[in-house]
Amino acid sequence: MILFFILGAALGSFACCQAWRIHDKDKSKWSHCEKCKYQLKWYDNIPVISWLMLGGKCRKCRKPIGWAEFLSEVGLGMLFALSFWFWPAKGGLIWSDFAEVLKFSLFLVEAVILLVLFVYDAKWKELPVNIMVIAGALAAAFCSVDIYMALGMGQTYNWLSLVGALLILPGFYYLMYKISKESWVGGGDWILCIPLALILQNFWLAIFALFAANIIGSFVSVPMLLKKKGAKATIPFGPFLILGFLVVFFLQAQILSLVAI
Ligand SMILES: [Zn+2]
Repeated sequence: MILFFILGAALGSFACCQAWRIHDKDKSKWSHCEKCKYQLKWYDNIPVISWLMLGGKCRKCRKPIGWAEFLSEVGLGMLFALSFWFWPAKGGLIWSDFAEVLKFSLFLVEAVILLVLFVYDAKWKELPVNIMVIAGALAAAFCSVDIYMALGMGQTYNWLSLVGALLILPGFYYLMYKISKESWVGGGDWILCIPLALILQNFWLAIFALFAANIIGSFVSVPMLLKKKGAKATIPFGPFLILGFLVVFFLQAQILSLVAI
């Protein structure tokens, strides 16, 4: 778990940095301070530790770096460690079952891509389409492994449930987007739902993910809206969709046993 935390923290740092680079169209080789352009040394780039040592400030100009970097590193580190611990088919991982290890690896890479989208949407209220295409391709590969495994072992694959998940998540948000002419949800949200539905592959899990995203969203956005009374605030929904998806993914066994009654 410690190893997974370190790997996640390093990739969290990478993902957060990529969000900035994509936004600024920055192709420079080394990371630098956004404010004074100080080029970061290797010892400024140690996930979590560098940020804590520097007290969240640039080594040169002492201006705050921001919480996004720190939270991305700690967040993805924890997600990687918890993904290993709470993996739904953990037996397959421990016994190095090839398909399960492949699914787990695809999931971790997907988590990195989702973090790029999370940071980007939280900061600039937009979801870059090319990053969502990568998320979609990874999710399609994840889903294909499940289909291939089920059919290869002579079991049936629940296509209906997969279609149901696609209708509930991307379908529902596409409708909201079309009906409201982009005033309730953004145009990126329904596209982001495609990879999430392809990983969940289950109608009930999709419904729970939708509820979870909206509940988390209300807890965060209601206080924000109250503070900004009068002003029309736009709140990015992508981060809530991703959090709702993660909660449901790791509680899938509990949710599925609940709806089976
Ligand atoms: Zn600086």
